[in-house]
Amino acid sequence: MAGSPLERIMQSDRLPTIPAVAVRVIDLVQRPDVSLDELGGLIERDPALAARVLRMANSGYYGRPRSISRVRDAVLILGLRTVKTLALGFTLVTDLRARQGQGLDHTWLWQRSLYAAIVARAVAGRAGLRIADEAFLGGLFHLLGVIALESALGDDYRAVAAEAGHDTARLRARETERFGVDHARVGAALAERWNLPAGLVDAIRHAADPDRAPLETAQLVLCVHAGTAGADVILGERPGEQLAALRTACQRLGLASEAAEEIVATALADGSTLAASFDIPASSLAPEDVLARANDALLRLTIESERENAALQAEREQLIQQASTDVLTGVANRRHFHEFLEEHFRLAARYGTPLSLFLVDLDHFKQLNDTYGHLVGDEVLRGVAQRLRTALRDADLLARFGGEEFVVVLPSTPLDGAVQSAERVREALASRPIEVAGQSIPVTASFGVSAYRADALMTPEWLIKEADLALYEAKRAGRNCVRAAGDEALFRI
Ligand code: GH3
Ligand code: MG
Ligand code: MG
Repeated sequence: MAGSPLERIMQSDRLPTIPAVAVRVIDLVQRPDVSLDELGGLIERDPALAARVLRMANSGYYGRPRSISRVRDAVLILGLRTVKTLALGFTLVTDLRARQGQGLDHTWLWQRSLYAAIVARAVAGRAGLRIADEAFLGGLFHLLGVIALESALGDDYRAVAAEAGHDTARLRARETERFGVDHARVGAALAERWNLPAGLVDAIRHAADPDRAPLETAQLVLCVHAGTAGADVILGERPGEQLAALRTACQRLGLASEAAEEIVATALADGSTLAASFDIPASSLAPEDVLARANDALLRLTIESERENAALQAEREQLIQQASTDVLTGVANRRHFHEFLEEHFRLAARYGTPLSLFLVDLDHFKQLNDTYGHLVGDEVLRGVAQRLRTALRDADLLARFGGEEFVVVLPSTPLDGAVQSAERVREALASRPIEVAGQSIPVTASFGVSAYRADALMTPEWLIKEADLALYEAKRAGRNCVRAAGDEALFRI
């Protein structure tokens, strides 16, 4: 057979046909000017349908229970729209319910559809939308495609459905895999052929993915989507996720997210009433149990996602740490040094807090490398970094400036404080050798200190430059000593 998978399925002569009375109901549903008598008369001609409509009218689902004995009164009291909805729902469900084969869980299918209908209607009603009845029908028929596929494909389809269980997302994926089309598209195509209202067709097609619905029917589709989520809170395998989905849908329709729980609880109660009218076995679950189960699952999900977030956060921090650390010595790298200096430079410029820094250049390091080898030189650099760190305050930033040079930024410290600090570090280094691989290696360093001045020419770069000049002086003075910018010696350069 030619055509797309959808076209081939739609050509099947085993697809359900629409019952004659439903055609007439749909005809009336489409006409805005239908009269009370016309609709009442049509319903009364089908005694089973009339009985169901009366039962619904008296059930309390549509307000206080009443005692209505004539269809005409039911139409009057419930309103044309609602009765049209009910009539269509009843005729189609009755007919479709008769078509059940083995292997597909029809009880689940109709329970899910009914709860979806009830929740969709409740959501629409609470949101103040005038589409409550359409939402009810959308929920009731959102699985029309499942029945269509079962009718057209028989056991092949039942096997796929059995494998997917009660998870409609999985079911749609399996259908697409196996038949090239899913029940949402087949259901919509059948609804279109039956001339059902356009909103209903969209609801069937997009219930699982409301964002794809056209603008005109977006709210209706979102209500039906909420309905399917609510039905899965009650019947599904992942009630926590579904409760979260229902809350999101509620919020998108302008309802408080707590409305979700109330709606589910009410739906369970209404479910028993309506199930009888539709000949669908009601779920025997107590509202408290369903909600407790859903909330439990949701809590577990929340905890899991918090854990996941914490793990991600730790990973991020580790990355940031790695990006700002010198690999060899474990102290801050040059990039981090520049960021730190710039930040504290801004504070100094704005609030006049003192700021100073000093450069540390190891003495005759080339020679040390030549004597002990480059690898030992690396270990010495590590040891020196450690020695420097211990001699500094916590607030000071120690960074590797490059090669065998380090830099220390001292926030809130004026020049003389930084000179003292550099002197302490120099002493800590020179006082005893660095131990590497069983060898004691004496190391000294020269120090150049500079400090922030409230001076128009002052920049972070200039601060470094002055420290570098002072360092040069320290080298000239014979190494293993500290020199500060502004020292007499500097003016001799
Ligand atoms: P001075 O006292 O004048 O500073 O003498 P110096 O030998 O330290 O001279 P200079 O600062 O110009 O040279 C630095 C040397 O440090 C050059 C290079 O061999 C060595 N060096 C730079 N980076 C590393 C490193 O990561 N590991 C090792 N092992 N050596 C390094
Ligand atoms: Mg150097
Ligand atoms: Mg050096």
